[in-house]
Amino acid sequence: MTDQVNRVVIVGGGTAGWLTAGIIAASSSALTRITLIESPDINPIGVGEGTWPTMRSTLETIGVSETDFFRECDASFKQGSKFSRWTSLASTDDYYHPFTAPAKYHDINLAPFWLPFKDKINFAQAVSPQATLCELGYAPKQITTPEYGAVLNYGYHLDAGKFSPFLRKHCVEKLGVQYVRANVSAIHLQENGDIKSVTTDAQGDIAGELFIDCTGLKSLLLGEKYKIPFISHKSSLFNDSALAVQVPYADPTASILPYTLSTAQSAGWIWDIGLQSRRGVGHVYSSAYTSDEQAERALRDYITPAVGKSTAELLSVRKISFNSGHRQVFWYKNCVAIGLSAGFIEPLEATALVLVELSAKLIAEQLPTNRSLMDIVAKRFNTTLSHHWQRIIDFLKLHYVLTRRTDTEYWRDNCQVKSIPESLQEQLALWHVRAPGVCDDIFREEMFSSASYQYIYYGMQGETLISKQPDDKQQAKAQALFMENARYIQQLKNVLPPNRELIEKIKHHGLSAI
Ligand SMILES: Cc1cc2nc3c(=O)[nH]c(=O)nc-3n(C[C@H](O)[C@H](O)[C@H](O)COP(=O)(O)OP(=O)(O)OC[C@H]3O[C@@H](n4cnc5c(N)ncnc54)[C@H](O)[C@@H]3O)c2cc1C
Repeated sequence: MTDQVNRVVIVGGGTAGWLTAGIIAASSSALTRITLIESPDINPIGVGEGTWPTMRSTLETIGVSETDFFRECDASFKQGSKFSRWTSLASTDDYYHPFTAPAKYHDINLAPFWLPFKDKINFAQAVSPQATLCELGYAPKQITTPEYGAVLNYGYHLDAGKFSPFLRKHCVEKLGVQYVRANVSAIHLQENGDIKSVTTDAQGDIAGELFIDCTGLKSLLLGEKYKIPFISHKSSLFNDSALAVQVPYADPTASILPYTLSTAQSAGWIWDIGLQSRRGVGHVYSSAYTSDEQAERALRDYITPAVGKSTAELLSVRKISFNSGHRQVFWYKNCVAIGLSAGFIEPLEATALVLVELSAKLIAEQLPTNRSLMDIVAKRFNTTLSHHWQRIIDFLKLHYVLTRRTDTEYWRDNCQVKSIPESLQEQLALWHVRAPGVCDDIFREEMFSSASYQYIYYGMQGETLISKQPDDKQQAKAQALFMENARYIQQLKNVLPPNRELIEKIKHHGLSAI
């Protein structure tokens, strides 16, 4: 057949490009040839240090050793996020969004049974051990737990600058991906509008049947060539700027936080990620509500207690601007955008890399064998991705609308009804009279399940007026689960090591391969 899809050309070698190459190469037939073109002149964005537990299965699927990954990518464990001062300005205001769902989540909704005790114990601590163990700095597994196995669910923090070269080496040496170091200078179309080939400065024209745009914010193929419109979501999510800084540990044996710490500021929030050799810290903010100078001041003030005033003033800070939103469609003709070229929304819940994994997996599973089937696959891909983007926007906005902060215009405007997507307004109306639960998971695979909504909703003191008395059997079951959780916490404290201790052991001894 003349319209067979055998040659996949990926343009861009940042994290999106190499993850996509690895995921497709690991699952495609020997007939599929994957070429990745990476510019020697344009650096990858160099941020993106927080991942989801999906990254565990991704790395395992593409055949990476977890030990090598820890050794080469400065990686650490991430068990969720801790949000500080999002609800109020009180120094004690914080809550967790752990990766482990509430106990027996699909059997029983514990939220209504927890509500009468909400002043005594916070939601995340009552329903899962992870928040308490994170607070105490424990790792999510033991050195005897095999690679990719877990006692508590986890993803990673990693050095973005090391991760892409690590993936590149694996993809080229183990998965047979062809690597072309060159700039793409022109894109050639066929009569039907498909991309026929791209011209590179170092290796001439490279032809293919499927082109994947991983060129970052530039969006060279989908945005610049095809002019697919960009849909802005700035009216809901105001942030459009970030300042990033790498912070050394004052003591190289200092503990490493097993979660991403996100501390709300007057016009944004600061992320704090602990790697093995340094912290990655950044201020995400809205340029409409604060200046770059004020944002930088807040960032330097944030790191001063850890490194001292003189170091805090000297560390170099990098500014990144972004538009909050995504392309109208993600797959057009024979071109699909993955990563920043498809869109970007503030990294509050580290949703960018998980979308890369999800998109690449969809392509790997559904890569059409011939061109005539591609439009059907593209249509489904676009429907799925549009749904995920909308759910991400709702979920991120939830963190803002539940605030009780009124100290700045930024927080006050974030609660204005006109900035809240209708779909989120509807959910909030329901949750006022019944707890979020599995009935809110309309699609089979939601990126944020209702369990995540529960953690944020109750973490930020969202209210639910329970009118129905729960039956005695359910009540007894819930009480037993609360007690079991308390006991499990005590047990895990005896067996899980501190986060840094386990990471050091992995570096020296390695984890056992499965
Ligand atoms: C402030 C900030 C914080 C973030 N934090 C997180 C996080 O915690 N978790 C998370 O999941 N995500 C996060 N992200 C998003 C994450 O950084 C990106 O999704 C990820 O790095 C993937 O980027 P990319 O590969 O799409 O683009 P890039 O890294 O920009 O790579 C683009 C590639 O395209 C190549 N290229 C461009 N033009 C050409 C050309 N003409 N010819 C050939 N090659 C070309 C470049 O050389 C480069 O290799 C964050 C983003 C920002 C801005």
